[in-house]
Amino acid sequence: MAKCLIILLLLAGCTTNKKILVLSETAGWRHDSIETGVEAVQKICNEEGWEFTATEDSSKLISEQYDCVVFLSTTGDILNDDEQAHLKNFVEHGGGFVGIHAAANTEEEWDWFADTLLGATFVRHDPVKPLVVEVVDECHLSTSHLPSEWQRVDEWYIYNRIPENVKVLLMIEDKDGRRPIAWCKAVKEGKTFYTGGGHTKAAWQEPLFLQHVQGGIEWSITP
Ligand SMILES: [Zn+2]
Repeated sequence: MAKCLIILLLLAGCTTNKKILVLSETAGWRHDSIETGVEAVQKICNEEGWEFTATEDSSKLISEQYDCVVFLSTTGDILNDDEQAHLKNFVEHGGGFVGIHAAANTEEEWDWFADTLLGATFVRHDPVKPLVVEVVDECHLSTSHLPSEWQRVDEWYIYNRIPENVKVLLMIEDKDGRRPIAWCKAVKEGKTFYTGGGHTKAAWQEPLFLQHVQGGIEWSITP
């Protein structure tokens, strides 16, 4: 715990004046929790002193300036070739990427997004249900506040693979097996973080989940 505290103290104060762009464009299933989620991320940004922009228009990936882009339950093929090239260049040159829930159901035909940026893609899900989330890495900014066994309700995805070459943060286990549900990694000079929660409106009212998302964003923009 002391080690966690020192790391957190060293990181504190390094992320002011940052700009966060939240994209929630959908070309497939549209979650009715998107608006609640966007409002929650806006509140996080206000509290952290981060500039906040939300958009349903992926062309903003090119026209806006930002330090982290959050794909909040985006779905389907939403990026054209120029937007794809811009996003890849942004992350590889030090940008932060945060994918939430259906971000893994986005751009599945684009290999770099599916294999490198996300690491796994959505296959299917069971109905919303309670599960115990196991905190695998308790020193990460997105997990250090969590109990080691975090009981919560969400829609839990089954992915096409166990993501490789990532730092696994959270695991779940159900009849479909034990699998990571939140992870992160460096992509060249940039950082990418994914968490599978956030399906329900209620998730975006959970203080522990909100702090998990806040920590993921902060980690992605921390040098
Ligand atoms: Zn969902």
